[in-house]
Amino acid sequence: HKYVYDFAEGNKELKELLGGKGANLAEMTNLGLPVPPGFTITTEACKAYLATGREPDGLAGQIEAHLESLEREMGRKLGDPQDPLLVSVRSGAKFSMPGMMETVLNVGLNDRSVVGLSAQAGGNDRFAWDSYRRLIQMFGKTVCEVPGEEFEHALDEAKRAKGTTNDLDLDADDLRGLVDAYKRIFAKHTGREFPQEPREQLDLAIRAVFESWNAERAVVYRRQERIPADLGTAVNVVAMVFGNLGSDSGTGVAFTRDPGSGAQGIYGDYLANAQGEDVVAGIRNTVPLQELEQLDKKSYDELLSFMARLEEHYKDLCDIEFTIERGKLWMLQTRVGKRTAAAAFVIAGQLVDEGLIDLDEALHRVNGAQLAQLMFPRFRLDHEFQPVAKGIGASPGAASGKVVFTSARAVELAAEGEAVILVRRETNPDDLNGMIAAKGILTSRGGKTSHAAVVARGMGKTCVSGADEIDVNVPAKKFTVAGQTVSEGDVVSIDGTTGKVYLGEVPVMPSEVVQYFEGSLDPEHIDNALVRAVHRIMTHADGKRRLAVRTNADTGADAARARRFGAEGIGLCRTEHMFLGDRRELVERLILARTDDERDGALAALLPLQRADFEEIFREMDGLPVTVRLIDPPLHEFLPPLEQLAVNVAVAQERGEDVAKEEALLAAVRRMHEENPMLGLRGVRLGLVIPGLFAMQVRAIAEAAVTVAHGGAVAKPEIMVPLVGAVQELETVRAEAEKIIAEVVADSGVEVLIGTMIEVPRAALTAGQIAEAAQFFSFGTNDLTQMAWGFSRDDVEGAFFWRYLELGIFGISPFESIDREGVGRLVRIAAEEGRAARPELKLGVCGEHGGDPDSVHFFHEVGLDYVSCSPFRVPVARLEAGRAAV
Ligand code: ADP
Ligand code: MG
Ligand code: MG
Repeated sequence: HKYVYDFAEGNKELKELLGGKGANLAEMTNLGLPVPPGFTITTEACKAYLATGREPDGLAGQIEAHLESLEREMGRKLGDPQDPLLVSVRSGAKFSMPGMMETVLNVGLNDRSVVGLSAQAGGNDRFAWDSYRRLIQMFGKTVCEVPGEEFEHALDEAKRAKGTTNDLDLDADDLRGLVDAYKRIFAKHTGREFPQEPREQLDLAIRAVFESWNAERAVVYRRQERIPADLGTAVNVVAMVFGNLGSDSGTGVAFTRDPGSGAQGIYGDYLANAQGEDVVAGIRNTVPLQELEQLDKKSYDELLSFMARLEEHYKDLCDIEFTIERGKLWMLQTRVGKRTAAAAFVIAGQLVDEGLIDLDEALHRVNGAQLAQLMFPRFRLDHEFQPVAKGIGASPGAASGKVVFTSARAVELAAEGEAVILVRRETNPDDLNGMIAAKGILTSRGGKTSHAAVVARGMGKTCVSGADEIDVNVPAKKFTVAGQTVSEGDVVSIDGTTGKVYLGEVPVMPSEVVQYFEGSLDPEHIDNALVRAVHRIMTHADGKRRLAVRTNADTGADAARARRFGAEGIGLCRTEHMFLGDRRELVERLILARTDDERDGALAALLPLQRADFEEIFREMDGLPVTVRLIDPPLHEFLPPLEQLAVNVAVAQERGEDVAKEEALLAAVRRMHEENPMLGLRGVRLGLVIPGLFAMQVRAIAEAAVTVAHGGAVAKPEIMVPLVGAVQELETVRAEAEKIIAEVVADSGVEVLIGTMIEVPRAALTAGQIAEAAQFFSFGTNDLTQMAWGFSRDDVEGAFFWRYLELGIFGISPFESIDREGVGRLVRIAAEEGRAARPELKLGVCGEHGGDPDSVHFFHEVGLDYVSCSPFRVPVARLEAGRAAV
């Protein structure tokens, strides 16, 4: 079994086996870019190790062989006392998990080879001891779980003794002393001396990288990003190059376009005289990459040419890690870079313009979740609000919330329903839970590539990083800025686009993309790259998609807005809200009616009100279909709560008041009390039990359609019967409805369809029969999910879903994204059997899943005609329906 690949043996397609980092190092090697030589141990080896707890047979020998050839190529031996080869041992999984797993640099250094390293560097003792102390620190922390703070404290102590705050002021002697201190820390925590044998260092580091796949923060990150838990990580062993050899050396990161806005140009950070991890950790302040041009023009020009080469090769934004060792540029990593939602659209548009990709491919480069982010509101800024600080807009959005200083507190307050802003000097992987819980993240240190920035962008969470006017004091739970103190619980607002920070809660306004969808920004006539790119990609999606997109709307105003957002009809108009407010009294009369006359009176009073509701909606949706659901919820929802009513009656009786009316109401509420109302008298069952109720609704719909038609508009009502489980239920309702419709519609030209929701599992399983009586099906995937799993949404989400997610029983809540295997199977069966019985049967979905990207792809696959979702999700569904079709 081949477990180890030389860089020359791999390529970018092998991410599953070699991890993203390994596959791309191989790709760059084969492109002829200067990558330090090395080899990759496969994810297969990692999986075998994690399954059995030991290295698979043959791995040690293959590592030996590849190490020998690496040593031959470099002309140095690992850890040799005179002229040592040093290597880095780097994690790298199929999907990038920034900072989540481990990397150890400078492997091969020990008490003897540190002297050889100094000689190699022309007698640079400072450099050699700095490298050695880094090894002990990283190795201790990563491989042997020595608490990282201990090393930090020792380093701070050494700087304090020297009277400086800058690492670079420590000289060789200081660093040698620090190595001794580090070794003592290492021995104290591990009960052994720091390993001097280079090969042992290498083997332990490889094993630690394997194990870092299951580190808690990596597990949390994967769950959040929905990365499968069983992929394992590859391990890259790479010959070291040194950015800490002096001022002619350094290290940096670069992006081929701005990952924040998508703008073309040179973006990145550079740090002279440093090793790679210093940049990402935000420990020292970096300079903008452009300044490298002054420092080292040759390397700068070369870097730019490599960047252009990589973009052309990957046909996408790339991000790059590089190191310059005494004027020689080395490429240490590249990948198709993460980017903000705005940048994703802008870059996709640019790449089409540049002829690198076509519009179909552009559709694959963006997604509905990104579009949803672009529809978040923005701060509305007038003179009242002046920023108190400005950092880097690291991940866009507008977030206001209470300030917290620790991950734990963020989690606590968020669980209580508070919006929180996590404020840190800089974040590290241990802050992950707090970052997930927070609405936004604010740091005082670090650039666009700091941990906070990278992780927040990945999560689509608002982040301002490097706001250095802010002085954060975590133990005191406060920060100071512009002479003011902000304590835990105070509200701040952060703008992840501009990097500005405000005290208090800033009001919000619609984003540009929303203004575009609303029709108030014309993409052809404004100079806004984002709006133009969104317009272009949406237009292409609309041209490609097969699924129609409708909206769920109960009022004329919602219908009108959804229509502007591109809705092609209403997939669900609920009628129950039409019975609330002033009308509740009429419903009470209906429920309490003792005689047919009383009941007919109540229904007659409701009829004109309902008719007016429908007229408004039909007018707004002129020419488009409108699916109206007959009344669905249990009737007692329209009555006062039992306990409160009982108390009122008792109190009134005590006072000797006349309570005949209240008593009748109380008796009715008692009579109608249900143990499981969601499984009780509701939906079609209600229509079959209360004479005249559905008939009144059907009449109101038909009359409204005729009135609208007379006014010159086209109404296309589709009457939907909820909660049907048996075809006989539908047939009974339909027979009555058809009579009324025929009478009302007469020769007005109005056509009214009658169909049913499929939301009871039995309906899905008998869809062939039901289709005989239905002109359309609309999948009510919320109820279908509840009934297929046998749980009530309101009761389960807070009670135990967190545990199910933790255990991986769900990757995501089945209410958020359709459970393809279970609930999805019911949809598939019903779609197939329904169509077999009635080929022209219209199929749609009206649950919240209609606006969920993954679910939209599923509904496309099973052949539905449309999805319906809330007005705000309509553009997302249009985009995803287009993506599903190309
Ligand atoms: P991550 O996945 O967290 O970025 P990396 O494996 O890329 O971790 O390594 C961490 C840092 O060390 C990066 O800045 C990287 O460029 C640097 N580094 C890794 N290997 C080497 C090497 N062989 N020589 C010099 N720097 C290296
Ligand atoms: Mg890296
Ligand atoms: Mg329902």
